[in-house]
Amino acid sequence: MLDQVLQAIRERHRFVVTSHARPDGDGIGSALACGQILRALGKDAEVVVYEGIPRIYQSLPFADRAIQSPTVPPNDAVVLLECDSTRRALLGGLDQCFLINIDHHASGRNFGHINWIDPTVMATAELVYRLACVASVAIDRDIATCLYTALMTDTGSFMFEGTNEHTFTVARELVLAGADPAQCARHIYFGHSTAKMRLLGAALSNLHREGALAWIWVTREQMERFGAREEDCEGLVNYALSMGDVQVAIFFRELPEQRYRVSLRSKGAVNVSAVAEHFGGGGHKCASGFSLDGPLAIAVARVVERLHAEAAGSAAAP
Ligand code: 5GP
Repeated sequence: MLDQVLQAIRERHRFVVTSHARPDGDGIGSALACGQILRALGKDAEVVVYEGIPRIYQSLPFADRAIQSPTVPPNDAVVLLECDSTRRALLGGLDQCFLINIDHHASGRNFGHINWIDPTVMATAELVYRLACVASVAIDRDIATCLYTALMTDTGSFMFEGTNEHTFTVARELVLAGADPAQCARHIYFGHSTAKMRLLGAALSNLHREGALAWIWVTREQMERFGAREEDCEGLVNYALSMGDVQVAIFFRELPEQRYRVSLRSKGAVNVSAVAEHFGGGGHKCASGFSLDGPLAIAVARVVERLHAEAAGSAAAP
């Protein structure tokens, strides 16, 4: 499949690279690196992000070149990273484009003209790295910094299930190419806004427990009161997962019209991707997300019930 991706790139000139809504470190880091790899191959490449680059990733190399736009600019092909559909990238006009879909989610779908989906890797950054190697693009310090940041964030700083010797091999190559692990970590983990810390306090004061489940939530009113943005919610769910006897943590964020955005995190015993897919979302075995209707008490009850069913199924599995 990588051959087909390379062939499609060789045959075209103008590229748009994009990722999913509410982009995370892998979405942004992989897109910025991929854009630069295409430029190194002599192509025109624009990185386009519907909502713009989240604050904590704005110091990444090439972030200042990325474009915020609701629609896709003219192109010969669009490289979609980490998306299971064009809908998830939000950009208008994607369905009329030639689509190269590169993803590492188990819930990934073959919606593109070319689909390179490899759920065995921890981050899409690993696939972008492989693309650069096969295309003989030299990984310089800036590309390495973007890819290392993507790998670091999607592996939860190399702590999530599935992190293995291959992950560290890629990380090593990126560090050898010039990525500075301490600096990458500093920007992400020590660059929070005050609003995010206040939101964390509010979320933890809403901590609920039921057996091996823990859940927290934030309301729109709290977000407005603290001046918090959507991106300030990233990672809050991990605090609920950090308790010793918790297997699955849930984070609910209130949306307009009584809907809720849900993040699920698992320590491995329960496949939270299956639960997210049940509600129309997706992700990985240990990290997934979706949206559903409220009110909150109903949303919590539905998600908790589904998680119990999934946990019971996993326990019964041979
Ligand atoms: P988060 O909880 O951080 O938003 O997402 C966790 C993981 O689930 C990420 O890999 C993300 O791409 C995936 N994910 C979150 N929401 C959705 C969704 O609505 N649809 C799909 N397909 N994947 C999602």
